[in-house]
Amino acid sequence: MAQFHNLPHGFLFLGQEKLGKAKVALEFVKSINCANKNNQGQPCQNCSSCQSIERLMHPDLLIIRPKNKEIQIGQIRDLSRKLSLRPFQFFFKSAIIDDAHLMNADAQAALLKTLEEPSGNTVIILITGNPDMVSLAIRSRIQKIRFGRLGRSAIKDYLLSQGLAKEKVELITLISAGRPGVAIDLSASQDKLDREERLLSDLIKIISADSGLTYRFERAKSFSQQSKTSHQDNAILEEQQKEESDQSVQGRQLLEGWLVYLREFLLLKIGVGTSINLYPDVIKTLERCPFDKIIKIIQATQSALFLTTTTNTNSRLALEMIMLEM
Ligand SMILES: [Zn+2]
Repeated sequence: MAQFHNLPHGFLFLGQEKLGKAKVALEFVKSINCANKNNQGQPCQNCSSCQSIERLMHPDLLIIRPKNKEIQIGQIRDLSRKLSLRPFQFFFKSAIIDDAHLMNADAQAALLKTLEEPSGNTVIILITGNPDMVSLAIRSRIQKIRFGRLGRSAIKDYLLSQGLAKEKVELITLISAGRPGVAIDLSASQDKLDREERLLSDLIKIISADSGLTYRFERAKSFSQQSKTSHQDNAILEEQQKEESDQSVQGRQLLEGWLVYLREFLLLKIGVGTSINLYPDVIKTLERCPFDKIIKIIQATQSALFLTTTTNTNSRLALEMIMLEM
């Protein structure tokens, strides 16, 4: 594989949630292993290597995710041992470390050692929304790629190029709020699109002045029950997430979704036009919702998200904390 002679051994994909980092990581792994790339270097998506990468089922692709909100040294040692073996079938042995900031200090030290002594055709991709929690020594050894939000028109053009109906394109552009990962998810699944619409309308109902505390606590209860029963299918690396409870993943996704909308509400409130103003219900509710209340709700949602990410706080308790601020 002469064209990959100078390929770095390590990458850091950084940026907020749902900007498509995990999707790009998988496409990248496909592109360095596919033997039938087109002349733009894009993977064919059909060969056995592309297909097994898509299904996350191949011994040459290793995926590490946190167990109990931590990536431990044992996981990294295991990864290093497997990376030191020759690829079974692919050109490269690849590893994706998702939520890499959750590596504890020992795990980071072990990873640093692996990066210092790279072996043969290996590529390690770290994905994180909190790069400052990854040690400087690691960061200085790998190639950083920053992910940001896309403009409304870029998302829209992409969706139109996929042949989606115009009405659906408008809706997905609105909901995805510049996050290509969300736009791709929603364009592939009507179920997910329906769920996102419900998320937005639930949030509007909850923050509207008419909803009392009893109603909001009822909603907190039902959200946390939904998280318990519905299976988690939102994340690209879902097969690897079994160790983490579905409930906490769902709870976090709910809070992350709310934060996106709440920030849009804030922009709308200060008169910066955003995509969300297409929803008349939003405008009506926001007219009666004071600016400082939205700020308070954002702060409460951010602390709840922090608690559910870093501790074992359950999602119902976290939601109830937010409901008290509303
Ligand atoms: Zn292929």
